[in-house]
Amino acid sequence: AVEVHDVHKWYGAHRVLNGVELTVRPGEVTVILGPSGSGKSTLLRVINHLEKPEVGYVSVNGELIGVRRHGDRLKELSERVILAQRSRIGFVFQNFNLFPHLTVLDNVAAAPVATGRLKKPEAQELARDLLGRVGLADRTGAYPRQLSGGQQQRVAIARALALRPGVILFDEPTSALDPELVGEVLAVIKDLATSGTTLVVVTHEIGFAREVADRVVFMDGGRIVEQGPPAEVLDHPKHERTRDFLSKVL
Ligand code: ATP
Ligand code: MG
Repeated sequence: AVEVHDVHKWYGAHRVLNGVELTVRPGEVTVILGPSGSGKSTLLRVINHLEKPEVGYVSVNGELIGVRRHGDRLKELSERVILAQRSRIGFVFQNFNLFPHLTVLDNVAAAPVATGRLKKPEAQELARDLLGRVGLADRTGAYPRQLSGGQQQRVAIARALALRPGVILFDEPTSALDPELVGEVLAVIKDLATSGTTLVVVTHEIGFAREVADRVVFMDGGRIVEQGPPAEVLDHPKHERTRDFLSKVL
């Protein structure tokens, strides 16, 4: 499970997260919706401790992320431990962020080798399996620039899977794609969802949310305004701001 407990994040006087409380149970898919600037990316970045919250904490499968208890306070863990924790939380970005100088196969095999989990031949075998799973078995020798955006994003998903994360966070995984490539990436994410991977997905794809999410969370102004099953939040939103947002994206 991912548990976000009373998280506050601010930059100077600018409050970006304002007491966020969220639980994602194992195997559940949570979709986060909300207007630009509402804090969605910041919340994902807090979950894997790319951003440090001023107040509150996150735990993943019962383990505090980035901090440990020290009496009644929280103390920052060492960079080494934080990196190890982060390697168990997959992150897929809007812009793929593949290594341009590595082949598709090596993009996926790199992290298990770098973290010392697998030897190179084993990592490449795993990478081949994962690339097959995202429909790219025939492109293992290509370089990222030789692939479409949708193919690059599927490589990025295979790369996240290579560390066998307990949870995968997606930050607008399809918003940089041409419309005709969105479906192939959503299909891969849907496949992960049905196989029981815990997912947190920031997206404006309402159809995907309706079909795949166990829970939809609507954020505005650094707060969770409303959350619940997709049929509730999307079809019978309780809050004016949720209704207003949905009327603009639907
Ligand atoms: P979008 O839909 O546009 O991606 P978002 O919901 O992901 O928006 P965030 O990126 O989390 O929003 O940003 C929330 C707010 O925090 C914004 O007002 C943004 O300007 C501010 N912000 C984010 N990162 C920083 C930073 N490093 N320094 C200062 N302000 C920041
Ligand atoms: Mg964002």
